[in-house]
Order: sequence, then structure tokens, then C-alpha cells
Amino acid sequence: MEDLEGELGAMREYHDGGNTRDASWRRAQLRGLLLLLLENQAEIFSALQQDLGKHPAEAYRDEIGSAVKSINYALHHLKGWMSNKKAKLPAVALLTTAAIIPEPLGLVLIISSWNFPIGLSIESLIGVISAGNSVVLKPSELAPTCSSFLARKMPLYLDTKAVRVIEGGPAIGEQLLLQRWDKIFFTGSTRVGRIVMTAAAKHLTPVTLELGGKCPAIVDTLSSSWDKKAAVERILGAKFSACAGQACIGIDYILVEQKFCSALVELMRVNLKTMFGENPKQSRSIARIVNRHHFQRLKSLLDDPKIRGSVVHGGFMDEDDLFIEPTILVDPPLESAIMEDEIFGPLLPIITLNKIEDSIRFLKSRPKPLSIYAFTKDESLQRRILSETSSGSVVFNDALIQYLADALPFGGVGGSGIGKYHGKFSFDEFSHQKAVAWRSFLVDFWFRFPPWNGYKLQLFQNFYEYDYIGIVLTVLGIGKQRAIHLS
Ligand code: NAD
Repeated sequence: MEDLEGELGAMREYHDGGNTRDASWRRAQLRGLLLLLLENQAEIFSALQQDLGKHPAEAYRDEIGSAVKSINYALHHLKGWMSNKKAKLPAVALLTTAAIIPEPLGLVLIISSWNFPIGLSIESLIGVISAGNSVVLKPSELAPTCSSFLARKMPLYLDTKAVRVIEGGPAIGEQLLLQRWDKIFFTGSTRVGRIVMTAAAKHLTPVTLELGGKCPAIVDTLSSSWDKKAAVERILGAKFSACAGQACIGIDYILVEQKFCSALVELMRVNLKTMFGENPKQSRSIARIVNRHHFQRLKSLLDDPKIRGSVVHGGFMDEDDLFIEPTILVDPPLESAIMEDEIFGPLLPIITLNKIEDSIRFLKSRPKPLSIYAFTKDESLQRRILSETSSGSVVFNDALIQYLADALPFGGVGGSGIGKYHGKFSFDEFSHQKAVAWRSFLVDFWFRFPPWNGYKLQLFQNFYEYDYIGIVLTVLGIGKQRAIHLS
């Protein structure tokens, strides 16, 4: 950081020299990312274990494997994404052709979060590199082993003149935000998202903000035992097996009809035992809370005397091990912190309703979430959720899977974020779509130039309405005159 401006200046010069534009450069960097993941799996497993207590199976599912999939997808589609797209023009645009040509934005800053410290950093890099940009990545200081892994290993696999990792916390983040960037891609909290957007405004830098919020899961009274079991497994997997609930698209709380609540809790108890055993702490299948600060934050949510009585399962905590048992609560007060703030941990409140349709009003009274999940086969309820609520994504009868679908845009709406990425959406997010037109010198329309008269006005009217017969008639002097009021 000693000569940040100088280093960024050199990166900009390298970028402006066109070094990152060619498909071959982009492919080489994507392949570098792939090798980084594949040749260093053991070290990544160990870093994710150290920072977050993730089991290698979870680490592979959520970080390495998902990123490998996305890189291969980008390599396969890169040529198509980079190609010029012909733009269709109307017949009046004689001897003119047009195209949309994607071009790199320039120097990009990525500020990343700690909960998927490898996966989220790589996922955003894929888009930046595919689109031919240069980039500085600042991983989160709260996953220090992963951050240091990226800083040490990325230079061995990627073009160091165009791709840099700068480690540090908020102070370094603030220093980086003082610089001029062509794009800032931020993953993290709403509070810091505001700081990022304020800093970006100074240079009119476009931002993507991947933020959080409270993602609800509506659970209908499913009739078949098969459906119930599938729903409960998916809910528990999404809540507790992805970074112990420290996931932006994890389920924050459940909405269920009162009459189904106790059966649902019972099913959850049974399936929690299958997933995490009699002693979840020993199971090695549940990640740890990232640090003491977040442990205390989660503990204080449960310590609230108004909340304690609503715990129906779990509640065990071990601060030295940063472990919190999967915990289920029923009907904590809606005005409590656990129902107002993003939980970001293995605490799962269930809110009971008279009718499942009441869930729509409930959701509409709250900020737009990153995702809404609904476990229901009721098509009319599905239609109402789609048409009456707003969220970054909606998934019926499962959770988290939308993150893996390269063909779906990933991002929030309203308070849950700005912009979207993954697959082609990432390429577009980090590209400028340049509009290009080619004209021939041969033909022109004499009436497009002054001096003006009513005859020219009439031709303009015919042209903008693509009224070809009207054009011919006006030119022949037999077109129908329109009433014109000139002041
Ligand atoms: P955070 O906002 O505290 O930190 C995110 C990043 O910003 C870190 O790299 C941090 O060092 C940096 N930072 C912190 N203060 C800064 C400042 N003043 N100036 C510049 N940079 C600064 O968030 P977090 O705790 O890392 O992540 C948790 C939040 O992120 C949750 O709200 C979660 O929902 C959200 N999240 C969203 C997504 C998504 O894809 N939408 C993914 C993961 C996490």
C-alpha cells in the first residue's frame, strides 16, 4: 500500500495498452483461476477449516466446486459473450448497419466478504476477467487464512500486471475507495454498502452491491410425508449446512400455519439428528461462527429474556470453540432484534400464521429480501408470491440452488442489493455495451436538414411512424396533410 497510486497507475497503463483485451489473455487467466483451485485444494480445505470450521465436503460444494463449475462455464461461453451482436434496424435506415460491441470497463475494485471467502472472490473475478478488465481484489480480513492464501497464490497463476490482491480491513478498504475506479463490486453489509456507494459517487463510478437481509421461507402444510421430509431436509441443509447459517441467501426465518408448526418442529428435530448426530459439536458437519464478536452478537440475540422462552430446540453454545448448536425458536416477538436484523447464524425462528396466504402481507410489510423460498405445491399461492412480492430471487420447494444456476442472474433488489452477476450476467455487469453504427455516404434524406417547412415536418411524421406508403404519397405530393398548430 506504500505507493498505491503509483501501482494503480501502472495497472491502468497496462490495461490501456490493450493487454487484457484479447480472448487469449482472458482464457489464460480463467485457466489460471482453475489451476489455482485444483492444484491447491488441500490448502484451501485447510484454510476454510481454520477460518470457518468448514468440512472439506461443504468447502468443495460451496466454494471450490461451484467456482470450478463457473470457470468452465465461462471458458465454454466466452467466445459468444465477446462477439459483436448485430442490431436490427428498421427499413428506413437505408444502407446503415449497427452492432452492440462489449468492451471492458477498465480497472475494477472487488471488496469481498468472509463467509465464502474463496468462492465469492473467485466468482466475481470470473466476470471481471472474462470481460477483459484489470482488477484489485480486497478479500475480507475476517477470514485471514483464506485472504493470505489468495494474496500468496494468485500471483503464481495470474497476470500480476492486471490482477492484484490487496489484503486488509476497513482502513485499507477506505484507502482503496479514495482511488478512482471504473467499477466497484462490493459484497457485504448494508452499512458498508452505503460507504462504498458514497465514495463511488465522487468519481461517478458504477457499483454493484451484493448485500444481505432476511430471506424468508414460507412452508405450506404439505400433505404427503415424502414432500414433508424433502422440504425439511432442504430447509435444514440450507440453514445449517452452509457456513452455519452465515450465508446471505440462507433461510433467515420460516412462516408456517399454526396448525402445522409442531409437526414441522418435530420433523426438524428428527432430521437434525440424522444430519448432525446426537452431539452436533462433534459432528464436524457444521461450520463455526467466524469470530467472538459475531458469537457474542448471536448469543445476545438469544439472551434477550423475551426470546429465551421461544427456544424449542438447541440453544447450546461454546464460545471457546465458536460453536452454536442448530437452534429453533417459535414465535419470538416480531419487534425483537432476532426478527428485525439479519440473523446470519444457526438460529431459526418460526413465525406462525392463521393462514399461509397471510405470509404475503407479512413479506410485503418488510424490506425486499435477496431471496424468498416457498415450499408449496399450491399453484395459486406460487402465482401470488411471484406477482405480489419482490425479491432478488424466488425458489419453490428448495433453497440456495439458485446460486449454482449460471443461467440465472444473482443479485438483490431494493435494500438487498444493486446489480447482478453469474454467467453471462457477470460478463455484462463488467462490460460496457457500446452502440456502434456504420453509415454509407451514398444515400441521404434531403429533408433531415434545414431550412424547415411543413412538407419536411410531414415526412418526419411518416418516417417516425414507419409509414412507408405515407412517405411515398408525401414525396409525390398527394399525402394527406395533417393539421399542424404552430405557435
Ligand atoms: P462487511 O460489510 O462488514 O465487510 C465486507 C467487506 O467490506 C470486507 O472486505 C471489509 O473489510 C470491507 N469493509 C468494512 N468496512 C469498510 C469500510 N469502512 N470501507 C471499505 N471497506 C470496508 O460484511 P461482512 O461481515 O464481511 O459480510 C456479511 C454481510 O455480507 C451480510 O450482511 C451478508 O448478507 C452479506 N453478504 C452478501 C452476499 C451476497 O452475495 N449478496 C454474500 C455474502 C455476504
